[in-house]
Amino acid sequence: MWIGRSKSRTDKVGNITWPNKPIKALGVYFGIQYEECSKLNWQSKLTECQSLIKNWLKRKLTMYGKVQIIKSLLIPKFTYLFHSLVVPESIVKEINTMIFKFLWDNKQEKVKRATLIGNKLQGGIDMLDLDSYITSLKLKWVKALTDESEANWKLIPKRLLKDFGDNFLIFYCNTDTIKSLNCSNVTEFYQELIKIWIKTRDLHKENQNLTFEQIRKQIIWGNRFIKIKNQCLFFKTWIKSNIYFLNDLLNDQGEVDQNVILNKLVDKRNCVVELNLLFKALPLAWKQTMKTFHSSQTKIKTEKRLKINNKPFELMDSKTIYQILVNKVFIKPATHSYWSNKYETKLNWNDIYKFITRLPDNRYKQFKFRVINMIFTSKETRYKWKMVSSPLCNKCNKIEDYQHLFIDCMAVNVFWEKILYIFQECGIQRNIRRLDILIFGYKISQEEYFYINVILTIVGFSIYKAYFCSNNWSNKFNILKLFKTEFEIIYQYFKYKKTKVNFFDKILQLLKDIY
Ligand SMILES: [Zn+2]
Repeated sequence: MWIGRSKSRTDKVGNITWPNKPIKALGVYFGIQYEECSKLNWQSKLTECQSLIKNWLKRKLTMYGKVQIIKSLLIPKFTYLFHSLVVPESIVKEINTMIFKFLWDNKQEKVKRATLIGNKLQGGIDMLDLDSYITSLKLKWVKALTDESEANWKLIPKRLLKDFGDNFLIFYCNTDTIKSLNCSNVTEFYQELIKIWIKTRDLHKENQNLTFEQIRKQIIWGNRFIKIKNQCLFFKTWIKSNIYFLNDLLNDQGEVDQNVILNKLVDKRNCVVELNLLFKALPLAWKQTMKTFHSSQTKIKTEKRLKINNKPFELMDSKTIYQILVNKVFIKPATHSYWSNKYETKLNWNDIYKFITRLPDNRYKQFKFRVINMIFTSKETRYKWKMVSSPLCNKCNKIEDYQHLFIDCMAVNVFWEKILYIFQECGIQRNIRRLDILIFGYKISQEEYFYINVILTIVGFSIYKAYFCSNNWSNKFNILKLFKTEFEIIYQYFKYKKTKVNFFDKILQLLKDIY
């Protein structure tokens, strides 16, 4: 294929097939037609995903099920491309739109994406954060480039990045923007790696106010604080002479010493000019600190080591890095403060979420998630959003909020009486007909109430499901029958798990006699 300046040549040399279209090699399309290659590489995968989604939408999956599909079937189609190519922002956006539309059944998104990506103990649903995922894949390159191994494939990036010092010194620098590096000779892919590395490393931001010790540990090259006309310094001969840190410029008295530098430099030709440049570039505050605090006694250890969040990068796998990145963008559920205000006492979210993850069915988890995040709405809320013409309950003409819908409504009254009777028969005298108990559980932190809380969950779930099935209580509906079915499910589940719960047998017996 003719490329570069010769790209428009049409002549054929030798007995070779000369393609004029993108060619596929190792799973990626290459060619001079950038748009066409991008289309071939990305659009075909997007189309594949769309048709998969179409099929999966036919099943009524929970959000948890969909997250599984997204992570195990959809995104893996792109993983190789994410790893090997620069990912256009438009593609990231398109994939994000696609997977979140799938998650929300093409309806409006009601919980922030930054909340959904959190893990289940934080109140998220472990949804994929695409940006963090792509970043964690790209960082594998940085790790491979900077490990000790010699490999032929490294020859090309070595050459591309040679202006920034040997052995990929660029990644050890601490510049804050790629704009302060003269990257015109670096290909887009490696520029992307540098950008991503800067972004990730900056999770732990450095401050310019440093002590003398800290200043000595600063790397001179590619340093965000040492710039001339917004450009970082890279003095090749100095780097070649193993001068990396400000400490390398100091004499035994801790003073910057021209003789020390001259002694170290193998090639002294530009020394004076460069030394002047360096002095001009050093922050004034540092120069003052270095003048004031220099001391002969302290020895310090300077080390070239890559770190993320102050931890050694080489010890981190992609999963760990992904988790760090996600934690950085995660926003806790917006409704937490609402619930905490309503019930004054600080709710123990950690235990609440821990309980939810232990529920035996994703439908129950989703019910809890939808109520806590108020995705499931009563008529009062829908009225506020102008989705219904009245905030009143279809059954009793009272304002229908959660309290009414789940606890006070005439439609749930008989059901509650039977449930209270069952609980009483099982020796639980306490009034559990309360909204906070229904949503957040009864003494949720105590293990001894675990199975009671499972039952309470399916009490809530039954009302919630009956509310849909009866078209918001417009039709008659037997909630207890629904409860019996759900109870059967968990009864079988715990039986299968060989967990003997005495009062489950009791409930089973009681349910046979009431209807
Ligand atoms: Zn009502």
